[in-house]
Amino acid sequence: MSPVDYHLHTRLCGHASGELEEYLEQAVRLGIREVGFSDHLPLYFLPPGKTIPDYAMGEEELPLYVEMVQNCARKFPLRVSLGIEADYVPGCEKKLAALLSRYPFDYVIGSVHFLDGWGFDNPAEMEEYSRRDLDRVYEEYFALVQQAALSGLFDIIAHPDLIKKFGFQPGLDLSPLYEETARAFRRAGVCAEVNSAGLRYPAGEIYPSLGLLKCFFKHGVPVTLGSDAHCPEQVGAGLPEALRLLREAGYREVTLFSARKRRILEIAGYCK
Ligand code: ZN
Ligand code: FE
Ligand code: FE
Ligand code: ZN
Repeated sequence: MSPVDYHLHTRLCGHASGELEEYLEQAVRLGIREVGFSDHLPLYFLPPGKTIPDYAMGEEELPLYVEMVQNCARKFPLRVSLGIEADYVPGCEKKLAALLSRYPFDYVIGSVHFLDGWGFDNPAEMEEYSRRDLDRVYEEYFALVQQAALSGLFDIIAHPDLIKKFGFQPGLDLSPLYEETARAFRRAGVCAEVNSAGLRYPAGEIYPSLGLLKCFFKHGVPVTLGSDAHCPEQVGAGLPEALRLLREAGYREVTLFSARKRRILEIAGYCK
C-alpha cells in the first residue's frame, strides 16, 4: 500500500459521505502512514448570492472543517495533514490568496474543474463535449492548468489531465501540450498530483497518464499521491497502481508538506 494519501474529501462538501474518523480508520487498516484531508474550498469565485449546489462547504463552515481535521488527527496513530482543494479561476487570485492566508494549511491543492464556467468533469454537463472541438478543449484545459501552476498560489496541482475523465480523446498529438505543462510546473516549482480517481471513471486510468508523468519526471517535477476519496471505502483505492506508475516513470520519492514546506519520502519498499 501507498505510504500516503493526500486527497481525502469530507461530507462538508455535500457530495461525499462518512465521518472523518471512518476515513482515518480505513487508512490505519490499510497501513497508510500519512493522510491529508483536502476538501473543496468554498466557492470564493462566484458572485455573492450565486452557488453550485453540493459542490463545496459554505464559507462559514471553513473554520469548522479546520477544527474537525485538527481534532480527529489527535485520535489516530498516523500523521494527518490539513490540506484544501481550491479551484483555480483566472481573475480571482486575490480573493483566493486572502482566503487561504486565514488558515494554517499544510498544503494547498490547485484544481481546474471549470473552463470558462463549464464544469467539464460534472456528469450533468457532459453533453457539452459533443458540441465542442475536442482539440480546442484539450488546449484550453492544459493552458489553464499551466496558468494555475504559474499563479504561485498552490503547492500541488491536482489530477493534471482530468480533462480525459469521461474518455473523450482528441485527435491532436498531446506530446507538445505535455512538454509545455511539465515546463510550466517546473518553472512554477509546484508538485504534480498522481491521483487514482481516474480508475473509477470512463478514462479508466490514473491522472496523469504515463506519458505526462514521464514528461514530469524528465523535467524534475516532484509528485504527491492522492485517491480523491469521497467516502471511507475509497481511501487508498488505486494507490498501489499509482505507485507502480510512478516507479515506471522513474520516480523514487514523493513530496510531502508541513505548513507549506516540503519533505521528501522515499518510496522504495512500498512498491511490489
Ligand atoms: Zn469532490
Ligand atoms: Fe478535483
Ligand atoms: Fe478532490
Ligand atoms: Zn479532486
